[in-house]
Amino acid sequence: MPLDLVLRQCRLAEGEHVDIGVAGGRIAEIAPAIVADAPEEKLDGRLVTAGLVETHIHLDKAHILERCDCGQGTLAEAIAAVAAAKRAFTAADIHLRGRRTLEKAITQGTTRMRTHVEVDPRVRLNGFDAVRRLKRDYAWAIDLEICVFPQEGLINDPGAEELLVEACEQGADLIGGCPYTDTDPSAQIARIFAIARRFDLDIDFHLDFDLDPSWMHLDEVCRQTDAHRRGGRVAVGHVTKLSAVDDARLTAIGRRLADSGIAVTVLPSTDLFLMGRDQAHHAPRGVAPAHRLMAQGVTCSLATNNVLNPFTPFGDCSLIRMANLYANIAQLAGAADLRACFDMVTTSAARLMNAADYGIAVGHPADLVVLDSRDPASAVAELASPLFGWKRGRRSFTRAATVLHHPTVA
Ligand SMILES: [Zn+2]
Repeated sequence: MPLDLVLRQCRLAEGEHVDIGVAGGRIAEIAPAIVADAPEEKLDGRLVTAGLVETHIHLDKAHILERCDCGQGTLAEAIAAVAAAKRAFTAADIHLRGRRTLEKAITQGTTRMRTHVEVDPRVRLNGFDAVRRLKRDYAWAIDLEICVFPQEGLINDPGAEELLVEACEQGADLIGGCPYTDTDPSAQIARIFAIARRFDLDIDFHLDFDLDPSWMHLDEVCRQTDAHRRGGRVAVGHVTKLSAVDDARLTAIGRRLADSGIAVTVLPSTDLFLMGRDQAHHAPRGVAPAHRLMAQGVTCSLATNNVLNPFTPFGDCSLIRMANLYANIAQLAGAADLRACFDMVTTSAARLMNAADYGIAVGHPADLVVLDSRDPASAVAELASPLFGWKRGRRSFTRAATVLHHPTVA
């Protein structure tokens, strides 16, 4: 098949300099110097990735800060404020706000995304319907995976389970849970596993989102994952409790997670913003040490979570920024540790999503993003800008290059 496009002088994450040939939306050839008569783009040794991978974001409740009245900055306040605002959400409103968020993510170089979507008797399937539309509307730029979940509880919220099941029947990609908001957390975990088995879906829990290490729902999630043989198909997000345990206990938990095949997503911006609010000074960081777990063989990712809402009143959807923020909080500096941060928004994040066709390899979709950097560690350290990208071989975004206007010397 003749090539449609050749990217020349690409630098890959491992350091090789190659040309990449694209045909029919897929990567057709990778070689030091491709001979072809095809349109080409010279990248001058810039870093090329298969795109950034967002494993955990909430498109349905992004951009609502101006509708919420928050002063404490606690998790309880954020859940209550969004629960109140959610009553006025319509599918059109969610679509509009989700679109703004999604377009930001695309221009930050994200090519795959898992979004959580709230389903309950208040918002019903409005969020699910709107995000399904977004998935179709933006398929040319991003693969969007929808995880439906009961943010306000399941066992304590009659009608929520029927709606979750309805969303699964209508094609939700996976199911999530939020046991800490339920009156019976273990029962919620059991129901979520039951629904996941019924529809053969992966699971992604919001879990252990405080700094009290005396108990963890993680124990029950590990137990159920083993019992249902769902290793490799379960992820947990936040687990901020893991920032409050000592080395020995963290090592034991890391081993358990690796053995059970449970992946971990850390959400640095939200966790920093919401944790430790009971401390008037010397507040803890409250961010789980993902790089330590990753070193033990746990699949880990860093993700955005929320954008401009009471959970996180910030956000530009940049995963490079999130990797940099994490490196800063975790006090990482060496090339290997910064590389791990890069992996947590690319390859490791894709592994968490079981995205088997992710990566720069012949036969994979031609999802290619150029970063203004030479290597992954520098990209994280220097917050490298994504310059442009392709989704399945079609140019999907371009960011204008910065121009410096030196005074003219006479
Ligand atoms: Zn979340």
